[in-house]
This record gives sequence, C-alpha cells and structure tokens, in this order.
Amino acid sequence: MSEIKTEWAIIGAGPAGYTAAIYASRANLAPVLVEGMQPGGQLTTTTEVENFPGYPQGISGPQMMEDIRLQAQRFGADIRLGVITSVDFSKRPFILNLDNGDVIEAESVIIATGANARYLGLPDEQRYMGMGVSACATCDGFFYRNRRVAVVGGGDTACEEAVYLASLAEKVYLIVRKPYLRASKVMQDRVLTNPKIEVLFNCNTVGLYGEDVVEGAKIVENKGTEAEREFNIPIDGFFLAIGHTPNTSLFKGQVEMDAEGYLIVKSPTTATSVPGVFAAGDVADPFYRQAINAAAAGCRAAMDADRFLIGD
Ligand code: NDP
Repeated sequence: MSEIKTEWAIIGAGPAGYTAAIYASRANLAPVLVEGMQPGGQLTTTTEVENFPGYPQGISGPQMMEDIRLQAQRFGADIRLGVITSVDFSKRPFILNLDNGDVIEAESVIIATGANARYLGLPDEQRYMGMGVSACATCDGFFYRNRRVAVVGGGDTACEEAVYLASLAEKVYLIVRKPYLRASKVMQDRVLTNPKIEVLFNCNTVGLYGEDVVEGAKIVENKGTEAEREFNIPIDGFFLAIGHTPNTSLFKGQVEMDAEGYLIVKSPTTATSVPGVFAAGDVADPFYRQAINAAAAGCRAAMDADRFLIGD
C-alpha cells in the first residue's frame, strides 16, 4: 500500500480523462490518472471511428484511445491501472481509495468515468458485438448504407437514431416494447411519417441470427397474450437505444446528480457541486455522448481545475 499525493487526480480513461491528462501534464502538473475497469472506455468496443477529426482514413477505437493515452504519457501523466473503490470528497485533500490498497490524496479531482449503454441482456448481443450489434448509430450507422437495420427503444434517442439511420439505410425497423412511443411529439412525428421506418409496436427481440454477422432478429409480438406470435426480420445492423447508465455509484451522496445519476455541472464550466471536483464526458452528458464532445469536456475540466488551484 502506498500513499500518493498529487495536485490532480483524474478518474476514468476515456477521451475525457485522457484529454484532461494531456492538458494537465503539459502544464507540468503531473496528474495521476486511474484507468478503472475498462481502459480506453466505450471506444474500445467500437470497431472503426470515422468521425473524430484528424483521421481521414478512420481509425480503430482501441488504437485511437491508445494514441491519446500515449500522448498524455509523453508529457508525464502518471497513468495507473486500478479501480477506485471509495472516495471522500468531504474535505481537501480529497481521498481516493484504490482496490490494491493505495490511497491518493488530491487537491482537485476530475471525474471522467463515462456511461455504459444498456443492452437487452441477450447472449446474442455479446456474440455479434461489433459484427452487427451497436449502441451508437452516429458512430456505426455509416457502415449500413443501403442496408436494413433495426433500432430498439421508444424514447428520444431511439427515434433520433431511427431517423438518422433512415437517411442512410434502405429500411429501418423500430422495435418498441409498448403500444406507444415515449419520445417527444416532434420526434414521434418524424418517425411515424418517415416512409423508410416501420415501427413494430408491442414487440420484443428474443434473439439474433446469422452465420458470422447479424443477418436477422427474432421478434415476439404481444408476448404473453392470446395474440402472441413470433416472426423474423432480416437485418444487417441491430442498434440498441434503450438508455445509458452513468458510472456514478461511487459518488452517490457526495456529488450532486440528476434522477438518472448523471453528474450535474455548472454549465458552461465542468464544476460539480463540490468545489475542486470537476466532471467531464458522458458521466455528465446525457445528450451528446460523442468522443469529440468528451475530449472537449476533458480539456475544459483541466482548465477549470487549473484555475481552481491557481485561485486557491
Ligand atoms: P429513455 O429512458 O427516454 O427511453 C428508453 C426507451 O427504451 C424507452 O422506450 C423504453 O421503453 C425502452 N427500453 C428500456 N429498456 C428496454 C428493454 N429492456 N427492452 C425494450 N425496450 C426497452 O432513454 P433515451 O436514451 O431515449 O433518452 C434519455 C433522456 O435524454 C430522455 O430524457 C430524453 O428525452 C433525452 N433525449 C433528448 C434528446 C433531444 O432532446 N434531442 C435526444 C435524446 C435523448 P418503455 O417506454 O417501455 O420504458
């Protein structure tokens, strides 16, 4: 067990955390970044990233994260493997306890722990992950030009993704478990009037099929009623849009969050309810959820933390 004292601790190793580390280390502030369970974050489960500026030929998600990580290390960021098991933000220095017994004492903390897309929990989702299964239409929709896809969900995200995919794909099924859409009226109208989108109400997905990649989904309609029936839809892409869960359980009771668990920041800054604690990326962003936005927020958090420490 060792005690690490630092001006800056960064929790999380996605685009937000690594970008904050680049800015902090270039300012000679020797940040300590703890990577958590999934170094590289959600992008490590993405195949090709084609919408991050600077990569005209595209780049694999894991490679891009490795590049950003190396960039932070080049300037001296102290990047550590490990999981933070508890924090104490009640006074400064803030205390971060790691699973290996190490303790970090930090004058400021940037939380960049991200969010995870929710999945249905079907074994087939894991089987075809990156082979037709995706939780981000903006990231992967382009690969389904003139193909058939399905989106699961009835909220604003699902409707937005269905409309976006309809601009690329030949046909979009929207699989909704209830007899109505939960999305805002304007998004409902866009979906229901789009000739490329077919809404399958009262439907649940029970499996996917295909040789190596997704070739279709098995659907049950009116489950548990006399009208129950099963049918298949031929699709190449299966998009989940049933919500995200921010990784904030560690901070419950210490940092203000909304009903969904997203950290609340004093926009346009990244300041949380605890002076000296900042939040960047998907952990505080239920709307944009893109790597470029997370990276930009990481930059802002680093600048906010710097100003906070100077003003001390
Ligand atoms: P929501 O929680 O609003 O919607 C989730 C949808 O997924 C619901 O239709 C829900 O069904 C469905 N769902 C959940 N679990 C399952 C499951 N196991 N099987 C099948 N369906 C399931 O999440 P969103 O991501 O859509 O939106 C999050 C928030 O962000 C909302 O407040 C939304 O308004 C907002 N948002 C706003 C946008 C905008 O203003 N442009 C864009 C995107 C999001 P059910 O209805 O049956 O519970």
